[in-house]
Amino acid sequence: MNRTAAQRLSVAALAAVAIFGVAGAPAGAGLGDILNQAREKLGPVLLARDLLVEPDTEVALEASLRTGLRLTGIEGKRIQFLLGDDPLGEVRTNRTGDVALKWKVPAKPGDYVIKIRLNSQDQSGQPIEDTELLVAARKADTPIAVVDLDKTVVASGFAWVLLGEARPMAGANLVLTRLSKTHTVVYLTHRPDFLGTLSRKWLATNGFPSGPVLTSTLGGLAAGSGTYKNARLEAIRQTFKNVGVGIGDKVSDAKVYADNGLQSILILNVDWSDDEAEHYEKLAAELAALPDTVQVVTNWSQVADVLLGRAVFLKRNMEKRLRDVAREVRARGKD
Ligand SMILES: [Mg+2]
Repeated sequence: MNRTAAQRLSVAALAAVAIFGVAGAPAGAGLGDILNQAREKLGPVLLARDLLVEPDTEVALEASLRTGLRLTGIEGKRIQFLLGDDPLGEVRTNRTGDVALKWKVPAKPGDYVIKIRLNSQDQSGQPIEDTELLVAARKADTPIAVVDLDKTVVASGFAWVLLGEARPMAGANLVLTRLSKTHTVVYLTHRPDFLGTLSRKWLATNGFPSGPVLTSTLGGLAAGSGTYKNARLEAIRQTFKNVGVGIGDKVSDAKVYADNGLQSILILNVDWSDDEAEHYEKLAAELAALPDTVQVVTNWSQVADVLLGRAVFLKRNMEKRLRDVAREVRARGKD
């Protein structure tokens, strides 16, 4: 993707942040400015959705052609799907700008990258960039690890990714690369689906193992992160019986992983300089409500320790630490 296309997507996403309140925009970025920019600059983009499927099955390859602040669909354009240089088919966008092409996944497990482009005869005005989607074809018993994106592998929230400022969490790429030798890494995020392309690029650029990036629809966004992820994970487990590990930063992530029988690892990002005792107490209470099997860590080195069985990070130890700090903060307040 060239810079212009990335910037266009950025504007779309930031506009969506403003409209849907998905996440806070970075400090200093005025929403009024962003919306005005979006109205002026936002052009058409091709979006696509990664798939995690079994080999030798028929699937629907889905893409969308969208434009403008509200990502309105563009009707009647021909979208081509290719595997390498082999054309798989061409479909015209419907009223909502969506296309779906039925495709028989090869019998051999592997990663199939499908290129998606607009028929060159349908290009007019601002050129529309090609995109791609990953079809991860895996046998039903393949070990799978589910990993969250924001504040789990990305040190900041998604608005920073869009502005090109996001940094990986230290060590996350190394730990996941090692995990990818034994597990298929699936990035399951509550990010909206129009951020799929940008998320994939960011992961590749920052040395993360390849894996399907499963993003949310607008319906999923409205449902909330925990509900959305639980539904996706239940659907994955209908086919894939060996989803073994889940890593995320939200208490709701940890609950969903544990409820689905995964080894649940919660990377807790605590601001230990916070001087509000209630914040620590609230977090401790949320942890107390999680199943005891959840392990709570604060960095990826500890995630590696858990995965390799070198250490156990009991949830109750973190609860105690949080309550101790809350007590200290209250005691300081009385001085
Ligand atoms: Mg997160």
